[in-house]
Amino acid sequence: MRVLLLAVTLALATAGAATPHPLVDGGGARTAGELAVDRLARGGVTVYCGNRRARLVALTFDDGPGPYTRAVTRTLRRAGARGTFFLVGERLAWWRGALRAEAGLGAIGDHTWTHRSLATLDGAGLNAEVGRTRSAEIARTGRIISLFRPPYGVRTPAADAYLRRLGVLQVLWDVADSGSGIRPGSIVLLHDTRPQTVPLLRSILRDLRRRHLRAVTVPELLAAARPRLTRDDRGPRTSC
Ligand SMILES: [Zn+2]
Repeated sequence: MRVLLLAVTLALATAGAATPHPLVDGGGARTAGELAVDRLARGGVTVYCGNRRARLVALTFDDGPGPYTRAVTRTLRRAGARGTFFLVGERLAWWRGALRAEAGLGAIGDHTWTHRSLATLDGAGLNAEVGRTRSAEIARTGRIISLFRPPYGVRTPAADAYLRRLGVLQVLWDVADSGSGIRPGSIVLLHDTRPQTVPLLRSILRDLRRRHLRAVTVPELLAAARPRLTRDDRGPRTSC
């Protein structure tokens, strides 16, 4: 099964590179954002925020698709804002058009298949939880998905190593479910499964406009200005 998935992934990767995909800016060519993501992933960097000098923030939406995904995508589109969606694979059936709508608005990331904490998974579990969602997203968007957010923000050494081997960048956040504390370079965690997210998103977008901050995707944030790095006991990470 694992070999088969890998073969499918490789075949799609080749197809994706040859055929420009209309849903995501940059088409089949590698965008500056994808290159920035790859460079950080190869270095084993974990991302908590972007560079504080650019007047950009990344709004991220976890746990969908869900009941409020449509309202979130509509709100972003009307504001001319872009977002990053970390999806739970088994919920992809909830709204079949979600990936298309979300890919058109920004970037897609993997948030596991069933939203289990990585701390509960062995190697086979990691492959099922991480590999399966990623493959489904790749199959439906035609793009290689290189962003991952661990459920509950829980990282483990085994998962860190597994994701690094896959070339997938772990993206956490520096602001959670709140409009306060947002600074240039912030990565804001929101949930498109919660009703309060839609009014909160509207208020955040108004506030960003007032402060001349632009909402971009995580890859765009990382490409616009190289994040400052530091090290902690788990390895290199962005300095927030
Ligand atoms: Zn989550």
